[in-house]
Amino acid sequence: MTSKRKKYDGYQSFSYLEAGKDYREFKLAKQVGRVNSTIIPLSKTEEERVQEIFEKYLTISTHDHLEVFPEDPSETVEYLRRGRLFTGYEGIAASGLDVIFAALSDGVALAKSPDAWAWENVVHQIGMFISDVDHQDLAFIAKRVDDIPKAHEEGKTAIVIHLESTPHIGTELDKVDVLYGFGVRVMGITYSEGNEFASGIANKHDGGLSDQGYNLVERMNKLGIAIDISHSSDKASLDVIEASKKPVFITHAGARALWPSRRMKPDNVIQSLAEKGGVIGVEAAPHTTLTYNNRRHSIESVMEHFEYIVKLVGINHVAFGPDTLFGDHVALHHTFAKELSITSAFRDNLPEFQEVPFVDGLENPSEYPNIVRWLVKHGYSDQEIAKVVGENAFRVIKQTWFK
Ligand SMILES: [Zn+2]
Repeated sequence: MTSKRKKYDGYQSFSYLEAGKDYREFKLAKQVGRVNSTIIPLSKTEEERVQEIFEKYLTISTHDHLEVFPEDPSETVEYLRRGRLFTGYEGIAASGLDVIFAALSDGVALAKSPDAWAWENVVHQIGMFISDVDHQDLAFIAKRVDDIPKAHEEGKTAIVIHLESTPHIGTELDKVDVLYGFGVRVMGITYSEGNEFASGIANKHDGGLSDQGYNLVERMNKLGIAIDISHSSDKASLDVIEASKKPVFITHAGARALWPSRRMKPDNVIQSLAEKGGVIGVEAAPHTTLTYNNRRHSIESVMEHFEYIVKLVGINHVAFGPDTLFGDHVALHHTFAKELSITSAFRDNLPEFQEVPFVDGLENPSEYPNIVRWLVKHGYSDQEIAKVVGENAFRVIKQTWFK
């Protein structure tokens, strides 16, 4: 239904090459309808209102992964090592989204180096992604503020290149200019394990932002790259918010007051972010935004985080960054925990919860319309919905990008 708005001609990633000759082919997961995820039931009038909202207002996801993963999760590591990640254009069209912050290099692009944040990995992934995007017409890379409303008007999807962390660049800050040149417009300071710029949420010692981190924040402000602190430690988050001359994003997280995981943000971080005009996108990756009330992860627990944060800081500072992907996300987490021995900082001392095979109602990027359905069903006005599905994030884009 929402997909009718987007002009998708059926393009499949890398179809300009020959499978089997130019690259090894993997059987990939179904992009839409892979599992039996719930579509929030609405009356005919309510459903029409949902469709009208997509017609009328700008919609933005502040964090999703657009890659399609292999149907057989045991092939995932080899697929990633080949460094050719397929993009789910069919699912993007079905999402109805005008703008997606496409998270690259979240520790999975291992094409060139076992260090996920090595410069050559990040550059490889960005270049490969843009090469594919530039062979089709549904999506385009957004580089300027004007590209955002343009996507809505033209029935296309604007993709914002969004790195979850700054790569390891040591003191070579000019490489941040290079990333801007490649189209990076939203970038995390660090991933969970921390780096030369800041402590991450997985670090035992929270050293906040380093001296070099302060320089990075200044350079990003000057260049016009929006800053993301989703994986930064609590102290680093506060340091960045204070140091940045522009508002800051938490592109994907939730409220620690509802679930005591380090992946969630404490009230004081969310409040400081909002005081400086920033926006937090509520996250929905499996087993993240759980709550004491909802220990079985679904759209209901995600929306509990949404409502809590709205109460805490007001509706002008909240958005959605579902952090979904195409494929078995839960299996992917298990694969990484096992094969790459990434210890999960997020499960330390957590209360009991029920593991789910997928997040019902928000399984992959194409299920974004369920968020709008939920908001319609729960009595939110058009103005309120317009803010959280697009306007708030767009405000921060306008305040942080150069042009
Ligand atoms: Zn992330």
